[in-house]
Amino acid sequence: MQIKEHVSLKKLNTFGIDVTSRYFAEIRTAHDLQNLFSQDIILDYPPLILGGGSNILFAGDYSGIVIHIATRGVEMIDPESGKVLSEGDSSDTGEVFVRVQAGEPWDDFVAHCVNKGWGGLENLSLIPGQVGSSPIQNIGAYGVEMKDCFHSLVAMEKKTGKLVTFNKEACQFGYRDSFFKQQGRDLYVILHVTFRLTTRNHQLHTSYGSLIPELKAMGINTPGIADIRKAVIAIRNSKLPDPEIIGNAGSFFKNPTISIETFERLRKNWPDMPGFPVPGGIKLAAGWLIEKAGWKAYREHHVGVHQHQALVLVNHGTATGQDILRLAEKISNSINQQFDINLETEVNII
Ligand SMILES: Cc1cc2nc3c(=O)[nH]c(=O)nc-3n(C[C@H](O)[C@H](O)[C@H](O)COP(=O)(O)OP(=O)(O)OC[C@H]3O[C@@H](n4cnc5c(N)ncnc54)[C@H](O)[C@@H]3O)c2cc1C
Repeated sequence: MQIKEHVSLKKLNTFGIDVTSRYFAEIRTAHDLQNLFSQDIILDYPPLILGGGSNILFAGDYSGIVIHIATRGVEMIDPESGKVLSEGDSSDTGEVFVRVQAGEPWDDFVAHCVNKGWGGLENLSLIPGQVGSSPIQNIGAYGVEMKDCFHSLVAMEKKTGKLVTFNKEACQFGYRDSFFKQQGRDLYVILHVTFRLTTRNHQLHTSYGSLIPELKAMGINTPGIADIRKAVIAIRNSKLPDPEIIGNAGSFFKNPTISIETFERLRKNWPDMPGFPVPGGIKLAAGWLIEKAGWKAYREHHVGVHQHQALVLVNHGTATGQDILRLAEKISNSINQQFDINLETEVNII
């Protein structure tokens, strides 16, 4: 494992922010990681774990050490013993346990599952990033969250280098939230994640948003997991900007949850305000609020709000992290003034 100096992070964050890292290391094995965390450099230069850089905004150059996770591998395992199984070993129980190394690209893994006929993650097709980051904010889309298929994960505790297993309960998954964003923040590096997937009698989730109309338009009445993947990809491609073409990190803000009373009060002024009942109140669509406040397709030099999706802030070219943060602040202040609602960022500001 080589430790490099002054490395450009422009191609390693989907916002395409042109910043550098003081030190940089790429991790290919758990041993590399344990070895790195036993070195003094970690004490002097704060480590930042970087996956696909699709949920990060660099506010400036990073003065510590960026540790890019590049471990690979997908294996079927016996969840009790952890033993790796070959296709022939598995008796047909209707489910399969799949252990995936943190550096695997998320969507390559979802495609692999669909090709194998393993169901559960197809609604999460085309989400950028790596498998190791997926539990951090419990990624979700089209009515499914990663936690629905999560079995367990193994992470290295940064302080001790020890490997710790977390089951679903220990991860405390919530809406774009987990233990790793709360009490466990910055304490662990996720090494691999095990998913529990179905091999038959898949539970399909088609009722969310525009999935059914898309499947109908594709001429499909009784979809399978491959059809759902295809429909999700078609919808996402039509709505979301491709970071290869225009820098962004997906939804910049979280959808806020407010009390039923506040929702009823707001509905008097905005009768078409969408709201979905969730434990603890009503979840609003942050994109709707931002659009209503007039920000959709807004542009100011190299920063802006996407023309089809108001929740996505974009880098039109040479925006800095500070430019994006300034726009985000203007937007959240305006939402606060107009609706008396505080928006929380979904993207990690570094
Ligand atoms: C176009 C677009 C669409 C998107 N759509 C969705 C969507 O539909 N739903 C959704 O939930 N998200 C979405 N996202 C956000 C993003 O793709 C996810 O949050 C993804 O899981 C981030 O993965 P990453 O590897 O890029 O993480 P990074 O951005 O590299 O890191 C995110 C955070 O996780 C930490 N981290 C990364 N890897 C590890 C590890 N192995 N161990 C410990 N900590 C780690 C980092 O330090 C950082 O704090 C979208 C983003 C884009 C650009």
